[in-house]
Amino acid sequence: MYKPNDITYPLISWYKSNKRDLPWRYDFNHKNSPYKILVSEFMLQQTTVTTVLNYYDRFIRRWPSISDLSNATEDEILEMWSGLGYYSRGINLLKTAKIIKRDFSNKIPKTIDELKILPGIGDYISSAIVSIAFNLPSKAVDTNIQRVITRYFQLDFTNTAKNRNWVQDIVELLTSHASPREVIQGLMDLGSALCTSKLPKCEHCPLKSGCTSYKNGKFEFALVKRKKIIPQRYGHVYLVERSDGAYLLDKRPENGPLAKTYQFPTTEWTDKKLKSDYFKKNKNMNIIGTFNHKFSHFSLELKVIRIKNLPADLSNIIVTENAIWRKPNQLQKLGLSSLMRKASKYIEV
Ligand code: SF4
Repeated sequence: MYKPNDITYPLISWYKSNKRDLPWRYDFNHKNSPYKILVSEFMLQQTTVTTVLNYYDRFIRRWPSISDLSNATEDEILEMWSGLGYYSRGINLLKTAKIIKRDFSNKIPKTIDELKILPGIGDYISSAIVSIAFNLPSKAVDTNIQRVITRYFQLDFTNTAKNRNWVQDIVELLTSHASPREVIQGLMDLGSALCTSKLPKCEHCPLKSGCTSYKNGKFEFALVKRKKIIPQRYGHVYLVERSDGAYLLDKRPENGPLAKTYQFPTTEWTDKKLKSDYFKKNKNMNIIGTFNHKFSHFSLELKVIRIKNLPADLSNIIVTENAIWRKPNQLQKLGLSSLMRKASKYIEV
């Protein structure tokens, strides 16, 4: 039977001298620290630390507190989020800031139940905020933590849901016995630096004396992922140019991929290629390229159609009521998604 201290003592001591230097970890006593943890956790969903570092500082400089953020507009957030992907995170973060201002007097709630009612906050983010921002016990388990604990106890990892429950229970116990903030961040950093997915560097690991995988020389860890068949979708994107050099853009719908971001008008994205004969007959419309983009749940192939003098029949283009015209040098301000940045590269063609 293990004692929590067998893990927490060596872990925290290793963490104190090896922790990653991350900007949201400075000065946990500052009143804005919980806000910084909130922002970082929203950004870190599905995104690496290295990528987040390119956005985080700019975001915090622009909106240094929850109250500043609550006064931002969706367009401003999307502009800042441009290229970070999963844009609904940015929109949910703004909604959350507004609710915290309205219902919690600009103070980030401290309990999992209160946090989980906020947009974009689920089991993991609420637990991470509670432990990292407020130093309270939780079941915060990210991939790094799951890998370290699974290996340490050589847990069965073939059933992902069961494995997660076991790991969560262990993490809750560990964070009830020592500084939750240091336990959680220590496990995260250990998983990132030493207990890596391919070749763990056990010789340098502070937990090796109690680690079952190390004792048995077995380090496999691959949570069973069902082989995903990524569906392919197709569509057209229209670069519609006005005589003054401005291009037509509209906003994507409230829900679905890239919700509420600006785009050059597109057709629907369907599982069958659209016919292109129409463009061959119409002298105002030219196919100038095709590009691919991967979303988490499907791949998209978009044919790029340039339209110089608008023909009357644009019925297959979906243009919402938020349509606007912008010149190429104004596009950056709109916070285009990576998909639309790819399309914008055809403007110079
Ligand atoms: S000893 Fe090796 S397998 Fe065990 S926790 Fe440390 S790095 Fe991971």
